[in-house]
Amino acid sequence: MSDDNGSGIDVDEYDDVWVFIEEHAGEVMPVSWELLEEGRTLAEKLGDELVALVIGEDVDEIAEEALARGADRVLVADDPVFEPYRADPYGEQFRAMVEAYKPSIALIGGTHTGRDFAGRVAVPAHAGLTADVTEIDVDDDGLLQARRPAFGGDVLATILCEEHRPQMATIRPGVFEAAEPTGEADGEIVAADVVVEEADCISEVLEREVGDTADITEAERIVAVGHGVEGDLEPARELAEALDAELAASRAAVDEGWIDGARQVGQTGKTVRPDLYVAVGISGAIQHLEGMNKSGTVIAINNDPNAPIFEHADYGIVGDLFEVCPDLADRLEGD
Ligand code: FAD
Repeated sequence: MSDDNGSGIDVDEYDDVWVFIEEHAGEVMPVSWELLEEGRTLAEKLGDELVALVIGEDVDEIAEEALARGADRVLVADDPVFEPYRADPYGEQFRAMVEAYKPSIALIGGTHTGRDFAGRVAVPAHAGLTADVTEIDVDDDGLLQARRPAFGGDVLATILCEEHRPQMATIRPGVFEAAEPTGEADGEIVAADVVVEEADCISEVLEREVGDTADITEAERIVAVGHGVEGDLEPARELAEALDAELAASRAAVDEGWIDGARQVGQTGKTVRPDLYVAVGISGAIQHLEGMNKSGTVIAINNDPNAPIFEHADYGIVGDLFEVCPDLADRLEGD
């Protein structure tokens, strides 16, 4: 790869694959371990190191866990200024670490947090940032190939960042398997300089209001509602309880305000891969299928026998959801 590419940076100075380990009050977001697993594959192809980056307060145990799950090195910025999360200290700290350590690739979970601060790193670094990525690989030149749906999900765009570093991407939760502890942890933990002080922060957290905390990406069973429920979630809720499943939804149901956006499945929602996915009153639009087509067994309940969802279901029930759901729930509960 040429040193002089017109961007003012020497891309050969940049190496290693970084994965941001997102934690909140000691709890790591599962997408971080998913990216660590995928980052390992990229690092091996490139012959680079896999580096986990941890920003937070009292994060020693998380750094150890990142080593145990396969990171070659963990860079840690540990300071009270990082708890609770705010975009400005995170963004500035990450940016300073990029400047100091020069990673070639930086992968960040496409969570609220990741989406919030990634731009604050990419813009001052003049780096490319591909958002909402669902597939990653490296090409023969060692460039990151970040793939994401485009044109309403009709095509999968491959985005390359040739001249700038790091090559950054925010990646959808739930699209990769998570890295498990390997039983070996022989990498090193490096304390990075903390460059942010409270006095420099332009934001302050005055109050925290916790909304719907459901994480449907981790659910083993899902009952998802669509526009067909007409605002009445009760039959689907009954079925979900009988199956011990999480409730999720199509965008049409979310847009109507019937259910929280955190539960939306699809191209502009979450990607889920439960063992069981029950689609209730969902037509099966391509944008919805994109978020659930890695599910195990799919059951569709729809009163239109020609609904596209049936082509993607293992079992289909043609009928009125207001009758089928309570009936199924009763049978499951043995009434
Ligand atoms: P509908 O298409 O209206 O289907 C309702 C279904 O319910 C019908 O099949 C009907 O037969 C059935 N039904 C009605 N009454 C009953 C009954 N009594 N019993 C049984 N069945 C019944 N959509 C997503 O879901 N997720 C996304 O992330 C997403 N992102 C998008 C991004 C873009 C850029 C665009 C353009 C669209 C996106 N959409 C997304 C919207 C998507 O195209 C569809 O409009 C949406 O998925 C339709 O939702 P639905 O299936 O619930 O509603």
